[in-house]
Amino acid sequence: MFDFNPKNQELTLHKFEQATVDRLKLLLATPQNIVITTHYNPDGDALGSSLALYRFLKSSGQNVSVLIPNEYPGFLNWMPDLKSALVYSKDQQNAELLLNSASIIFCLDYNGFNRVNLFADKLVAANGIKILLDHHLQPENTFDLAFSVIETSSTSELVYDLIDALGKIELIDKESATCLYVGIMTDTGSFSFACNLPRTYEVVADLVRKGVDTEQVHRLVYDTWSENRMKLLGYCLSEKLTVLKEYATAFIWLTAGDMHKYNVQSGDTEGIVNYALSIKGISFAAFFTEKPDRIRISFRSKGSFSVNAFARDNFNGGGHRNAAGGDSFQSMENTLQRFKDTLPAYKTDIVAAADESSRFQL
Ligand code: 5GP
Ligand code: MN
Repeated sequence: MFDFNPKNQELTLHKFEQATVDRLKLLLATPQNIVITTHYNPDGDALGSSLALYRFLKSSGQNVSVLIPNEYPGFLNWMPDLKSALVYSKDQQNAELLLNSASIIFCLDYNGFNRVNLFADKLVAANGIKILLDHHLQPENTFDLAFSVIETSSTSELVYDLIDALGKIELIDKESATCLYVGIMTDTGSFSFACNLPRTYEVVADLVRKGVDTEQVHRLVYDTWSENRMKLLGYCLSEKLTVLKEYATAFIWLTAGDMHKYNVQSGDTEGIVNYALSIKGISFAAFFTEKPDRIRISFRSKGSFSVNAFARDNFNGGGHRNAAGGDSFQSMENTLQRFKDTLPAYKTDIVAAADESSRFQL
C-alpha cells in the first residue's frame, strides 16, 4: 500500500536497482541453503509471497525452506506447499538449526527484524546474508540487500517482479501463480485499495494466464467462515462498535472474554476493522483485541490520513499509510481512553481525509 501516483508509471518499469538484482543473481549462481522468513501472524501476502519464492528457488535448484513465526489463519491452509513450512512456535529446535545453517535468509513482507517477533534475536544473530523484499514504509537499514518498494500492492507483486527481473518468469507455474494471486488479492482487499497502478493488473493478468482460478481462490479465502466467526462479526457490529462522528472515527474492541465466548481461532478477527471504515463519513477505524500480554490494535484509514504515523507515534507500531498495527501494554479500558484522548490532535487531518474521500475527484 502506498501514496498513489497513477501518473508515475515509470515506477513500474524500474522497481529494482539493477546493481541489487545483479548481486542477487551472483549469489544464486551456486546452490545455497536458503530460509525464507515472514512476519508474525502471517497473512495472505506473507504466505503467498513466501511460498511462491520457495517454489521458484526450489525449481532453480536451491535448497530452500519457509520458516513462519506462528500459526497461519485456517482459511489459508489449502495453499500449495504450506504444509512443508516450518512453524517456529511449534518446532523451535529445528527452526533454529535451519536459521543457523542458512547462507541466505530472505525477509518477506516485513520491514524490521522485530516483526518476526518470536525469533527476532535468533534472526539478528544468524550469519546468513539477509535479503529484504517488502512494500512497507520505512524499512530498517539492517539488511544486507534490500528490495524495498513501497509503491506497490503487495510483497507478492514484488516476488513476481523479482522473478521477472531475474529473467525466469517461465518458472512461475500455476501453484506459484495462485500463491501470488492470494497475496495480491488479500493485500488489496480484493482490489479495493493499494491497487491504483496498471502494473498490478498486468501482473494479475499474467497470473490468470498461468492458470489461476480467481473465483475459486476468492471462495476459498473469503467464503469459508465458521458459524462462530460470522456470529462474532455480528456481535462486533451490533454490540461493540463505537462511532465518533465528530472525529470521523469508529472503533471496535474485543476482550479476552468475548474471544473465548466465540471460540476465536487464528484469522477469525481478520477484516473486522474494515467494517468500521465502511461507514459513510468515517476515515479512521481501529480494532482492539485483548491478548494475554498486550492489547493488539489494527488501524485503517481512507485517503490522506496516515495510520502508519499514528501507530508509530502512539502505539509502538507502524505499517502502511492506510493500514497499520500497534500494541498497548495497558488495560483495555486505559487503552481505549488513551486512544480517544489522542483524537483531538488529529481531528483536522482525519476530518479532511473523510471530506476528500467522499468526493469524486478527477
Ligand atoms: P494488521 O492490522 O492487518 O495486523 O496490520 C496492518 C498492516 O500493518 C500490515 O501490513 C502489517 O504488516 C503492518 N503492521 C501491523 N502491526 C505492525 C507493527 O506493530 N509494526 C509495524 N511496523 N507494522 C505493523
Ligand atoms: Mn503485504
